Amino acid sequence: MKIWMDGELVAKENAKISVYDHGLLYGDGVFEGIRIYNGRIFQCSAHMDRLFNSAEKTRLEIPYSRGELVDAMKLCIKENGLTEGGYIRLVVTRGVGSLGLHPFHCPRPGVFIIADQIQLYPPELYETGMAVIIAKRRRISPSMLDPSVKSLNYLNNIMAKVEAIDVGLLEAVMLNASGNVSECTGDNLFMVKGGRLLTPPTSAGMLVGVTRNVTMMLARRAGIEVIEKDITPAELKEAEEVFVTGTAAEIMAVTKVDEKVIGDGKAGAVTTRLLRAFREFIETDEAYE
Ligand code: PMP
Repeated sequence: MKIWMDGELVAKENAKISVYDHGLLYGDGVFEGIRIYNGRIFQCSAHMDRLFNSAEKTRLEIPYSRGELVDAMKLCIKENGLTEGGYIRLVVTRGVGSLGLHPFHCPRPGVFIIADQIQLYPPELYETGMAVIIAKRRRISPSMLDPSVKSLNYLNNIMAKVEAIDVGLLEAVMLNASGNVSECTGDNLFMVKGGRLLTPPTSAGMLVGVTRNVTMMLARRAGIEVIEKDITPAELKEAEEVFVTGTAAEIMAVTKVDEKVIGDGKAGAVTTRLLRAFREFIETDEAYE
């Protein structure tokens, strides 16, 4: 297994970063998680847009162009023989600095790319759906740290995920400071009501998921009305269907929120239809633009 690090391919056991890297010391950095399907980079431009946007918002200058990073990702796919599926983790850290917060005392950001297999949720979960809780911990608000930045600072999400793990579950819905639904700890959230697809607007404070955008586009193409609007926890529990979207999860039904069973407790018709449309989309060239 080869890792791309600052312009070189190195063996996994030699892919190491300094204990003085601010990515490690302060979670100061940004990243992307990207799917490989059929040996190709899924939604490549959307991921590059988000990466450069995250970097700009955190005053981080990526020392490579988009083209160079895309070439590096392709090289990793080839070198690691990921001709079918896989997952890319592209990380940009603030770089090596001194033991103070000052980001601009780190002369050069560090970049590494891991291309590996991805651990999928068990296939049966796509039919039965998963149970989630509504976390007590709120999603960090945009006035604190813009959640649309995919930063290395995931403790807000991790602590909400711990609430789910503590009750034997894997995912939790996070509310924003106003008490409305924002997203899950590592996925975006959708609900179906009266045949329409509802999802919180980006103003609810969330990571604007690449899978979220693809799902909304596929729904509209299928003639399903999509509405971005604030969703209360009570509305969520009254949904006919609920599902989450994300690079790893793709489209995964949610069949229980806290103690409330959603729909008839299995993946609903709209969720199943969208998952099928998503799988078909993966087979088209458009998915890799
Ligand atoms: N929200 C959060 C907090 C995430 O970390 C992720 C990615 N794992 C998502 C949403 C989904 O984004 P995407 O579809 O781009 O993977």
